[in-house]
Amino acid sequence: MKLLNNKIALVTGGSRGIGKSIVLKFAEHGANVIFSYLSSEEKANLVIKECEQYGVRVSAVRSDASNYLSAQKLVDGVLDEYGQIDALVNNAGIAKDNLLIRMTEEDFDSVIATNMKSVFNMTKMVQKSMLKMRKGSIINISSIVGIKGNAGQSNYSASKAGIIGFSKSIALELGSRNIRSNVIAPGYIETEMTGHLDDKAALEWKNNIPLRRGGTPEDVANVALFLASDMSSFITGQVLNVCGGMAT
Ligand code: NAP
Repeated sequence: MKLLNNKIALVTGGSRGIGKSIVLKFAEHGANVIFSYLSSEEKANLVIKECEQYGVRVSAVRSDASNYLSAQKLVDGVLDEYGQIDALVNNAGIAKDNLLIRMTEEDFDSVIATNMKSVFNMTKMVQKSMLKMRKGSIINISSIVGIKGNAGQSNYSASKAGIIGFSKSIALELGSRNIRSNVIAPGYIETEMTGHLDDKAALEWKNNIPLRRGGTPEDVANVALFLASDMSSFITGQVLNVCGGMAT
């Protein structure tokens, strides 16, 4: 059964990792997908190619989600071409880890801008169309460290906690118009973002996971599919942890 037949989905950061998996999953389920990326044009083209098998329209736009005007241009372009956006996935994110004593102002500001301000930018632009349609699903990718905190990630954790507060507020603001806003909080997922960890650190993470493995991008994409589809039509303002039981 295709859960997103003929829906239009916009995904930020779809060129690799979790975002790529969400793009593929949505396309497999019949959605036309537009995704953004920052610099990986070649990888973005490969994602489009991989989606050809699903017979839907998938396109990529180079657009900095942290930039208000770029976000506006991206959303305007999608609306001009498709007329509506049924699902928005705010996935784009970066990490610039350091202990507070060594963290620079630039590393704090850029993580907040890419991970959190981007969610404001994109949601603000997309809401107009969703309000008109009186439906829509907004899915924000946070992290369990936004709930638990993590030494060496004060900037990242703050950005991810901010996403949760924002998302819950939007759920309250837009619920009466049948627009849902939910958060996915992944734990340790094996992507380029976590690829820099050495074997010892990766093993330490995995040993703290009750299911004793790292998550896959598809583990997250499956939950995004559920939240984008009508299967979750009575769910809003929630945080779904996809972390193998790490955060309880
Ligand atoms: P990733 O492999 O590093 O991919 C990040 C994606 O975001 C790429 O497509 C990148 O585009 C895009 N991106 C970065 N900055 C952008 C910007 N300013 N505008 C538009 N796109 C931008 O990361 P990932 O592991 O898949 O993570 C995806 C999301 O899940 C992030 O929000 C991350 O914080 C969250 N998360 C990840 C984990 C994990 O363990 N991996 C755990 C919890 C939460 P380019 O390819 O062009 O750079």
